[in-house]
Amino acid sequence: MGKMKFIADAMLGRLAKWLRLFGFDVLYYPHIEDRLIIKIAREQERTVLTRDTHLLRKKGLKDCIFVESDDIFMQLSELRNRLDFDKVSPLGRCTVCNGVLLKVSQKKEIKEYVPDFIYHNFNDFIKCAGCGKVYWKGSHQKKIKEKIIEILSAPVASGKSFSSEDPDLSGQGRANSLIRPDEKGSAGADREKERIED
Ligand SMILES: [Zn+2]
Repeated sequence: MGKMKFIADAMLGRLAKWLRLFGFDVLYYPHIEDRLIIKIAREQERTVLTRDTHLLRKKGLKDCIFVESDDIFMQLSELRNRLDFDKVSPLGRCTVCNGVLLKVSQKKEIKEYVPDFIYHNFNDFIKCAGCGKVYWKGSHQKKIKEKIIEILSAPVASGKSFSSEDPDLSGQGRANSLIRPDEKGSAGADREKERIED
């Protein structure tokens, strides 16, 4: 079985970002008509992720996963039996545009796109082939792995014992922040944090 590809409905933007962080190929458009979701899914052989019972009844829908919860971690937990979380590659996809992330071979290529502090303290950088956003591997990656373990080990549908807290993607100063190449400095990092956390 090849790697699963997805398209998420308009209600699942946050889930789409999380799945991208985990390395899954997930298309998401905040304003898209149902029939277009179905069309793209068929053309590109993508599984539709939806919370919309109305969409479920639409003609032409083939592969589809209905997501019941509106809580992000419950949603991820629901998906854990359907997706291969064991094989995820953290930082595999751009959270903004779903582009493929490529290793930056020469660190100096990205010098002007990241804060000095980051440039001097990190060595492994990756860049989105789609929008050019630069990411760096650090504890951010570790946190993603920890979150995956939490998802895999949490009881299903208990609600209570499951942490609904987002991993702190900007926790340790800017080292964990994601930053857009056109938004140097902390303002950009903060904005990106909001974006991730919705
Ligand atoms: Zn991108």
